[in-house]
This record gives sequence, structure tokens and C-alpha cells, in this order.
Amino acid sequence: MNNCIFCKIIKKEIPAKVVFEDEEILVFHDIHPKADIHWLAIPKLHIDSMLQINYSHEKLMGSVLVKLNKLAVEYNIEDYKLLVNTGLKGGQEVFHIHFHLLANN
Ligand code: AMP
Ligand code: ZN
Repeated sequence: MNNCIFCKIIKKEIPAKVVFEDEEILVFHDIHPKADIHWLAIPKLHIDSMLQINYSHEKLMGSVLVKLNKLAVEYNIEDYKLLVNTGLKGGQEVFHIHFHLLANN
């Protein structure tokens, strides 16, 4: 997606503090943290929002969650919130699907 800020982060066209990256997902720090730890986990595949997911995304979306939890455990984060804002009225500002992981020390 040409104008997507998160696709630009994936392509390293704009910087981000990356926590984890592999061939299918990227986890990075939210630029305006709302908790002591505030990560964003995204699939590298551009999907606008939860409204667009279907069974072709089943494995990918599962991978995002399994990898994100594994990372949290590695960082000794065992109490956290996951948030997926969906649609404008759902508070979504960036239309590349993302999971907020929020945790306080
Ligand atoms: P949402 O409201 O769920 O779409 O969340 C979008 C999140 O992306 C917000 O928490 C922003 O602070 C965050 N954000 C926007 N631009 C950047 C960026 N360049 N790097 C890191 N986080 C960003
Ligand atoms: Zn995108």
C-alpha cells in the first residue's frame, strides 16, 4: 500500500524502534506510548483492518498472536492487554491492521 505509514515502516522508509521482525510480522514501539510498554504488532501483509480478514489470513493472524505472546514472555511481560481498534468509530487511526500490546511495570 503506497500511502500506508506501517508499510513504510516495514520497508524501512521511516524509522521505528523494532522489537522483533521476521518474514511475516513486525513488532515495534508505539511512538506515543500509553503504558510503560506499548508495542504494535503487525503482519507484513497489508490488511486495512479486522473487517478485511478472512480464512485466507487464518495462519498469518494466528502467527501474529503466537509470536507476540512468545516475545512478551521472553521480555518477562506476563500481564498485558491486547487491543485492536477497528474502524474510525472504533478508534482506528492507522489502516494497517495492528495489535496494541500494553503492559505496566
Ligand atoms: P490506532 O488508533 O489503533 O490506529 O493506533 C495507531 C497507533 O499507531 C497509535 O497508537 C499511534 O501512536 C501509532 N503510530 C502512528 N505513527 C507511528 C509511527 N510512525 N511509529 C510508531 N507508532 C506510530
Ligand atoms: Zn500497510
